[in-house]
Amino acid sequence: MPSQSEPGVEYTVTLSDEGSWSCTCPHYTYRHTVCKHILKVREEALEDREYQRRMVERALQANTLVVLPTALGKTVIAELVAAESDKLLTPNVTSGC
Ligand SMILES: [Zn+2]
Repeated sequence: MPSQSEPGVEYTVTLSDEGSWSCTCPHYTYRHTVCKHILKVREEALEDREYQRRMVERALQANTLVVLPTALGKTVIAELVAAESDKLLTPNVTSGC
């Protein structure tokens, strides 16, 4: 994420496994509050979710090979598909017993 105040400086925004955001910019480092970089990345991540949701819907209709640049995106889709598949399969499993 390029800095707006200092051209050439890049900050890294990361999302931890626990779902908390952090940034390497001075704003976050000193104040530990959400900075503009985190807001920007979070916005883009939300757009990704919409895209991923559409992929999940398609994956549920047919066997789909999901190709995305990040491992995280694929993990999310796999989990969503698995969750949806569980919902669909649960009635069969219970009635079978
Ligand atoms: Zn920042």
